Amino acid sequence: MIKKFIKRILGVKKRAGTSSQDKQPVVLPAKQHGIDPKLVSPNAVRVTQTLQEAGYKAFLVGGAVRDLLLGVKPKDFDVATNATPEQVKKLFRRAFIIGKRFQIVHVMFGQELIEVTTFRGASSEAAPKDEHGRVLRDNTFGEQHEDAVRRDFTINAMYYDPATQTVLDYHGGMDDIRKKTLRIIGVPEARFREDPVRLLRVVRFAAKLKFTIDPTTSAPIAVMAPLINNVPAARVFDEMLKLLLSGHALACLQQLRKEGLHHGLLPLLDVVLEQPLGEKFVRLALTNTDDRIKQGKPVSPGFLFAALLWHQVLEKWHAYKLAGEYPIPALHLAADDVLETQAEKLALQRKITSDMRDIWAMQPRFERRTGKSPYKLLEHPRLRAGYDFLLLRCASGELDAELGEWWTDFMAADGPGREALLAQKPKGESDGGAPKKRRRRGGRSRNKSAAPAEGGSGE
Ligand code: ATP
Ligand code: MG
Repeated sequence: MIKKFIKRILGVKKRAGTSSQDKQPVVLPAKQHGIDPKLVSPNAVRVTQTLQEAGYKAFLVGGAVRDLLLGVKPKDFDVATNATPEQVKKLFRRAFIIGKRFQIVHVMFGQELIEVTTFRGASSEAAPKDEHGRVLRDNTFGEQHEDAVRRDFTINAMYYDPATQTVLDYHGGMDDIRKKTLRIIGVPEARFREDPVRLLRVVRFAAKLKFTIDPTTSAPIAVMAPLINNVPAARVFDEMLKLLLSGHALACLQQLRKEGLHHGLLPLLDVVLEQPLGEKFVRLALTNTDDRIKQGKPVSPGFLFAALLWHQVLEKWHAYKLAGEYPIPALHLAADDVLETQAEKLALQRKITSDMRDIWAMQPRFERRTGKSPYKLLEHPRLRAGYDFLLLRCASGELDAELGEWWTDFMAADGPGREALLAQKPKGESDGGAPKKRRRRGGRSRNKSAAPAEGGSGE
């Protein structure tokens, strides 16, 4: 009885920190973890095998092991080893050392990339930090148990050896997989403080895996949210992109709100989560993106960000027009304003912002359905993205569905068909004072669905 009690206390202690027990992992044989070896990439096995034959330790680690334990095919494989990057590089024909501070090795097999990381050492008290406690540099190599303790969540800190089919579990990850619980390793406040990006990661994993965040882990989240503001914009952007392209973007954003991570955290989240007018539009854009990711179709970040910020652009566009600006320059001014606000916190790459501007700038051009305008628009290199965006606006009720249908027809039509469409007087548009007529629909088959066929492809 007493033994059990002590064990329980120790168990709790072990959970909460980095006690000496964490040096010895629980070793789980195949029949206990049930990983299906067929889900493991043969190239990942090749990497661990090559390293092991050269005398090193090598394991699959992180998200791949977590997904394997959940019976899901991992999207990529990371390997952890005690070999140094130089030692790893020597063993493979196509291996590249990446990074300046903490080097990792990219081993390539055709299109597949296996990321090989040397075990990291325990983060030291002496590691340089910013004034808020964020660790700036902490790049020493270390032992496997030290590597485990530095990982973020218990379910992300397990190691799988494909050769022996054993899982090494240092922090009760297997238990948490069974309980569908996200639990940060160590003291939550300290771990969020040393890397506030973990605040976004916990939300992404909870939404994606449909796991519950352990109350001790979730308690400090809302209070610590402002720490994200001190993280370099490029890292926040990478993590936001992972969240938005996770295939569960809508669920992630709802979870962000639930955890109190939306208000005043990032201008993007304020816009996306707190705009009643754009809510339907954003929801459609995100659902569309999630569907595309689940179907393995490409998604363009430019399209997605253009959609997330559209209603802010609309609002500012309207304000500039009211102030007396002409519509087209007003739209460009609105785009400048919106992108400037976002750029501060979110390092949107130039390619992405230029895609966003193109998509936005095309929108008023879809409303001109006379003369040479529509033909010129057909030649636009980003027509497809602009058109998908237009369909999204129609589907959200912002524009009459008829406009989207007209463009679907116009793009599909041949020469005479296009002339016929142009000859129709579109509803709500005038050609210089002539009486308005209802557009008669042609007899051709058309895609009547207002939902974008390629929404989000952007290509
Ligand atoms: P996904 O399937 O979405 O890629 P993942 O768990 O593989 O999820 P990655 O960002 O690829 O996530 O990171 C790989 C592993 O590296 C994680 O599983 C975790 O062990 C560790 N890791 C990544 N980011 C952090 C972080 N900020 N703090 C601590 N550990 C981290
Ligand atoms: Mg990963």
